[in-house]
Amino acid sequence: MKRKRIALIGASGRMGQAIASALQKDKSVSLDLGFSKSRPSEKVVKQFFVYKTKFDLKDFNQIDLIIDFSSSSCSLKALKLATHARIPFISGTTGFSKKQFAYFERASKKIPIFYSSNFSFGILVLRKILSDPQLKKFFQRVEIEETHHRLKKDRPSGTAKTLQKDLSLDFGPVRIHSIRKGVEPGHHRVLFKNNFEQIELSHKAFSREVFSNSISLILNFMAGKRIGFFDMMSL
Ligand code: NAD
Repeated sequence: MKRKRIALIGASGRMGQAIASALQKDKSVSLDLGFSKSRPSEKVVKQFFVYKTKFDLKDFNQIDLIIDFSSSSCSLKALKLATHARIPFISGTTGFSKKQFAYFERASKKIPIFYSSNFSFGILVLRKILSDPQLKKFFQRVEIEETHHRLKKDRPSGTAKTLQKDLSLDFGPVRIHSIRKGVEPGHHRVLFKNNFEQIELSHKAFSREVFSNSISLILNFMAGKRIGFFDMMSL
């Protein structure tokens, strides 16, 4: 079988590197193109056939699929080109405004898009547990606490906003408390309270690999999709 040719946007970043090492073990893909803002170490550059610090439409000529873990502005630029070139797009970038994110919905009418603010299987299961109607029946108050490393650019985290959106359907406005410290890859706690008791549901990532571990499964899931918007809940 012909290998899928991948372009990785944000290839030098913490997530880009976790994704690149996961994909190097996957015989169904080849890392053809890597992009980042500036040229990283030769060790990173050597993982790709071609490495660039700027991209435009012609760079995607021979590409079957784009994976993006970068920044909101860079991600949108890549998505616009992907839509134009009709290339499937997988993104885990966070920090989009509502207006920016609306473009994802529009683009999914032309290409298949997989987007999730959290690629871990644990958060997928946590979101399913949060939809249990008994939580709403017996607990009146809910709040979210998220802790991440000091270099994280967005606050609150994309995952906390996803959990907030899920919960606000039942509970109305939900407060998020954000903590930035150390090298924490991601810890999310959801607290349900009534006047007599509290339930605490928590997910803790041990390392960034928790977010790249799912990438081969996502690639399989996306194979053959022609248009549409998909996320971890679609798996
Ligand atoms: P990082 O700062 O370590 O890496 C960002 C990468 O994007 C770098 O390679 C940088 O050069 C590139 N980049 C940024 N802006 C660019 C631009 N304008 N042009 C070209 N390249 C550009 O960040 P990170 O920790 O790897 O996180 C990247 C994104 O992924 C963030 O939005 C983060 O919140 C998100 N994230 C998602 C998940 C998930 O599971 N979905 C998990 C962790 C992080």
